[in-house]
Amino acid sequence: MTAIRCRSWVKRLLVLLLFSALFGCLGSIETASGDQALLTLRQQTIMQYTRQGRLDSVTREKIFAAADATALQALISKLDDAHLNTLPVDGRVCMEKLKEMVALGKRFSGSPGMDQQRKMLMKYFKGLGATVVQQSFNARNPLTRQPVESVKMTNLIVQWHPERQNRVLICAHYDTRPFPDNDPLVANRKGLFVGANDGASGVAVLCGLAPHMGKLEGKFGVDFVLFDGEELVYDNDRDPFFLGSTHFAREYASLPPTYRYSAGILLDMVGDANLQIYQEMNSRRFAPKLIQQFWAIARRINVKEFHAQIRHEVRDDHLPLNKIAKIPTIDIIDFDYPSPRHRKTYWHTTEDTVDKCSAVSLAHVGCVTLAWLKSIQ
Ligand SMILES: [Zn+2]
Repeated sequence: MTAIRCRSWVKRLLVLLLFSALFGCLGSIETASGDQALLTLRQQTIMQYTRQGRLDSVTREKIFAAADATALQALISKLDDAHLNTLPVDGRVCMEKLKEMVALGKRFSGSPGMDQQRKMLMKYFKGLGATVVQQSFNARNPLTRQPVESVKMTNLIVQWHPERQNRVLICAHYDTRPFPDNDPLVANRKGLFVGANDGASGVAVLCGLAPHMGKLEGKFGVDFVLFDGEELVYDNDRDPFFLGSTHFAREYASLPPTYRYSAGILLDMVGDANLQIYQEMNSRRFAPKLIQQFWAIARRINVKEFHAQIRHEVRDDHLPLNKIAKIPTIDIIDFDYPSPRHRKTYWHTTEDTVDKCSAVSLAHVGCVTLAWLKSIQ
């Protein structure tokens, strides 16, 4: 995806002020004790738990009582585990699948890694009772620019209760960018891009939702659609984005199936350990009711990482779905990776790795999506 613009420097300033108010004086006292690693981890944890609404006084005391960074890390694992046990969507399943995908290495359209990933995911979803349809097509290879040397693309349509005529879409792209070409180090730009957040995270949430789908009662059937070719892009100005979602939308519009999709949720970059999801401008423009509905669910189930303000305007797979297929679709995306406070971004760099993602973030997005699916039935 590409971002067009963002706003909310005011918010950035407020967070910065809050942060310095909270830690300004504490920081100087603790620095004297010399344990910088402990300090940093403690500050990160306090910030993260505050954002997630998990910082009660007992937890806070425990965090401050940890003697060193190792002890604090052990405490965090324990606290996160206990929290994950309370959630309906299993963040550990999401994380396990995210790691499995990342371990395959490069997964850009047409690559061997993408092939292996497709097989792995098909097996997983079929094993849980889904009907999986492969929607294949050929796209021009942007490198050779010759139609004869085309790249085979395959969208995966994972259907739950395919007999239901009223359906909704939950989608994510599953290809990764060929190279980390936004890396600050020029030498890295032809290196390995594994796309833990940009690529694997949306699919990882779908993997966590999958065990719940068979028993989802009501009038709506659900299709998970995994788009290929979101960014087989070597040159942002030259190569087209959203090949898979555009193909899917065109097929839906020109050869209408007997069933209809009444809404779509696109998940992209939802694994950031530092998760903060703002409303995206195009989503609000095309699907204002849906975005309100989704954020109301987040508020109802107390998932604090969803903020009801607009921040970015993002061009992503939801555009063809809205414009061509006319399916009201919203993009659930945290484009500030790792956070609005940081100048640098991990987006399209060698830093988009597993350690930047968290099971809690994936589970929280899964929980809102599951609660929304239940609410519309
Ligand atoms: Zn990307």
